[in-house]
Amino acid sequence: MPTVPNTTHESSGTSHQPRATNHDSRITNHESRLTESLLSVRGLSKAFGGVHAVQDVSFDLGRGQLLALIGPNGAGKSTCFNMLNGQLQPDAGSIVLEGVDITGRPPREVWQRGVGRTFQITATYGSMTVRENVQMVLLSRARRLFSVWPRASNLYCDEAMNLLSRVGMADQAERPCGLLAYGDVKRVELAMALAHAPKLLLMDEPTAGMAPKERNDLMALTAELTRERNLGVLFTEHSMDVVFTYAQQLLVLSRGLLIAKGSPAEVRDNEEVQRVYLGTGATFRPRAVL
Ligand code: ADP
Ligand code: MG
Repeated sequence: MPTVPNTTHESSGTSHQPRATNHDSRITNHESRLTESLLSVRGLSKAFGGVHAVQDVSFDLGRGQLLALIGPNGAGKSTCFNMLNGQLQPDAGSIVLEGVDITGRPPREVWQRGVGRTFQITATYGSMTVRENVQMVLLSRARRLFSVWPRASNLYCDEAMNLLSRVGMADQAERPCGLLAYGDVKRVELAMALAHAPKLLLMDEPTAGMAPKERNDLMALTAELTRERNLGVLFTEHSMDVVFTYAQQLLVLSRGLLIAKGSPAEVRDNEEVQRVYLGTGATFRPRAVL
């Protein structure tokens, strides 16, 4: 089975090398920071009654990496996400973020440690403008960092506008979110996730309900932001076109088990993956919808 590179074990392989000079060790430290795993998941498991939703799942995710978690409906993708973001307690296994064990930590703590997720803009916030929604996250982040609520409501206006420009929504900043087209709401949700300055971003079906062109645009933007901000992104997605165009690495779940992991080419050629997807019409080809 192909494996995802940059596991913690592999990246610790420098320990037997001769001691470096001061100058060299600075470089070595810098390099090891770049290659060390951001997220390291080992033996993650969860059962609901007799259903083994997730069984013994292990993988690593590095900074600047876009990792897709795919698998048929009911494969255990959302259960994985919910354990990673703290909503569900795993039965077994560990989740380590930047060397800190966050297994079973409550969602708020996981969020504070830099695990972001795409918000769903609920009806409650639909009456607020696009800019206000992003500002709200910036304010709560400031509270997280400095333990105070800044008073002025125009605080973080510039920062909110910068983020909105980055996702192509600056021109709609003063519109209420409730009036936006669906694809535009998804861009605002992405800006809100970024406002939290996450290290790891979890996106469970970020493009659900979107037209093919919009899906492609959103994932192209996500891929750019992943590189630009050196984030680790884990996402699920039904469209194989999108997955095989944008993900650098793939994890394939089937009935709770990780049946394959590796590059798009490795996963495409995996017989078990082909068997699982047989008859679903999945083509496993990158095909950007322009
Ligand atoms: P996916 O996101 O890949 O479609 P899920 O993680 O939602 O899959 O579900 C995996 C399995 O776990 C399914 O059989 C589903 O019915 C079951 N499951 C998920 N959540 C619960 C729950 N809260 N209670 C009971 N069974 C659940
Ligand atoms: Mg799901």
